Amino acid sequence: KINSPLEAYKYLPQTNCGECGEATCMAFASKLIDRSGKPTQCPPLVKEKKFAKKLAELERLLAPEIREITIGVGDRAVKIGGDDVLYRHKLTFFNKTKMFYDVTDTMDEAALLERTKKVADFRKFYVGRNLLLDGVAIRSVSNDPEKFAAAVKKVSEVGIPMILCSFNPAVLKAGLEVAKDKNPLIYAANKDNWKEVGELALEYNVPVVVSAFNDLDGLKTLAKTFAEAGIKDIVLDPGTYPSGQGLKDSFTNFLKIRRAGIMGDTEIAYPIMALPITAWMAGISDPVSAAYWETAMAAIFTIRYGDIMILHSLEPYATLPEVHLAETIYTDPRTPVAVDSKMYKVGEPDENSPVLFTTNFALTYYTVESDLSSNGITCWLLAVDTDGIGVEAAAAGGQLTADKVKDAFEKSGFDLKKDVTHNTVIIPGLAARLQGDLEDKLGARVLVGPMDSGRLPGWFEKNWPP
Ligand code: SF4
Repeated sequence: KINSPLEAYKYLPQTNCGECGEATCMAFASKLIDRSGKPTQCPPLVKEKKFAKKLAELERLLAPEIREITIGVGDRAVKIGGDDVLYRHKLTFFNKTKMFYDVTDTMDEAALLERTKKVADFRKFYVGRNLLLDGVAIRSVSNDPEKFAAAVKKVSEVGIPMILCSFNPAVLKAGLEVAKDKNPLIYAANKDNWKEVGELALEYNVPVVVSAFNDLDGLKTLAKTFAEAGIKDIVLDPGTYPSGQGLKDSFTNFLKIRRAGIMGDTEIAYPIMALPITAWMAGISDPVSAAYWETAMAAIFTIRYGDIMILHSLEPYATLPEVHLAETIYTDPRTPVAVDSKMYKVGEPDENSPVLFTTNFALTYYTVESDLSSNGITCWLLAVDTDGIGVEAAAAGGQLTADKVKDAFEKSGFDLKKDVTHNTVIIPGLAARLQGDLEDKLGARVLVGPMDSGRLPGWFEKNWPP
């Protein structure tokens, strides 16, 4: 395992040819270490035979501790695993927890399609991106291969990743026959069926879950047996008990598995599956309470170390916290969540529209943008580059100054004297201290807006036009 650019540099051609888009091999080596680049992006390393050994060695040394596995095909394919650290602040977590929602092979066709499409079409806009649900887990309740194959075929037409769920190898095989080009994950091999399910994973070349509830030695033995048989893409299911001591044991098992994997125990260094859906089997009769508990379990295993989950409730009070938490835990702490620093239009502004600025911290920018657009306020909104820091901290820390705002206007090409008739800019209330300086630097009238962008509509009623 290599951890520094200097170590990675030894495996590169060291010609600084620039073909990878970096000025030097050392700069490219840094990208390899922070995983924003791959060895195959160095053309000489790939093309020249004399580097073949170095390329292979570099790829091996850079491989993440936890195996990275792809499920599905095409645009909606998802990756799980791929982590190198136990704690996010030590690097970052990769491949956020993937959420799969169950359907069954006993649902009628219309209900099956409706639920599958609900999963596929879910979108939640959050700080500049759409959060999605990841796929569908098709559970065989009938235990009938034909019925299962029919359900898999219907779901596969929607085009999202699938988990095929049955402990019966004949049922799994029927599902794989109709979805063999979709790279589904199969669930699951256990101590009773491992031989047949392992053969299916090899025959259809698909990722497979090995399952041993609350039996880490048994789980490790299964994973080892599969790896020795040539199966590379393995997911671990140590069991997810829904309550009491069982839940505590499940949590401990997740910690033990991930710790061992990161510390170099390759026999168990695979992504882990959590099953918050078991909340529905915990004897809770009220569906809202069951969904609540399922979401609480999803939170527990998103934080510690569930890479993929099967869930049931598609109610917004379940899905929204699930996708938001995963997004937050897997945000890269090395990179501020920022939008491009430029002039944005809210609505279709013209020369009479107000001009505001905020910082390029994505959460701040989208909050302000949403407060303006949802209240029908058409305006120009400049995002000033503050290294992705919010208004108050940036104004206090020197990342938001009159010079920076002036620079941002100049870089955006927006001229307060020519592009609008009022030569006025509205600044955030939390940056009021910049008012005098800004008036001097911009040669414009500067109005101090409210401390909170939620109060912009009331502020505009009283203060605009100036
Ligand atoms: Fe170095 Fe390869 Fe990049 Fe050329 S393409 S600069 S050899 S890393």
